Amino acid sequence: MDSDPLIRASVASILRAVGDDPEREGLRDTPKRVAALYKDIFSGVSLDPASAIDTVFEEEHEGAVILRDVEFFSICEHHLLPFFGTVQMGYVPRGKVAGASKLVRALDVASKRLQMQERLTSQLADAICHALQPASAAVLIEAEHLCMVMRGVKRPGSRVVTTALRGPFADSVADPKELLSLMQRR
Ligand SMILES: [Zn+2]
Repeated sequence: MDSDPLIRASVASILRAVGDDPEREGLRDTPKRVAALYKDIFSGVSLDPASAIDTVFEEEHEGAVILRDVEFFSICEHHLLPFFGTVQMGYVPRGKVAGASKLVRALDVASKRLQMQERLTSQLADAICHALQPASAAVLIEAEHLCMVMRGVKRPGSRVVTTALRGPFADSVADPKELLSLMQRR
């Protein structure tokens, strides 16, 4: 279904509801632009982040694999405002590894939807576990929320940190806390 006409009409209604005129020159194309924008930033809705990790290699690597400082943008589902920051994600493989770009793709799928930072963190850790069945996995996200900056408590520069630890699975001894401490080491 093409959601474009519905988004355009809805945005025009909001512009009218806040007291502006959607027909004035500066706003005339705004509903169209917002519809195109939404198509991108909500492109992960109803997709499974784990299915983005679709290239998996059999590899007997025994140490940790960590992807550091990956930037992301998402939309807070409570205020429809962006939150954004960096992700550290990693796992200790048990025979399967994924290309780094596939992990980034999983992050894109999970972040391009109406989100909460806590859920984004869990969904990414679960996607890694589902696709790779690792010995352990960890995700750490640090983000700034515009809903804490522009409104409410108005605290620019403050960051929310969330973690998700998974494992150790099966009979492995890989403690996900070790992944977390590697992620935090500078
Ligand atoms: Zn919010």
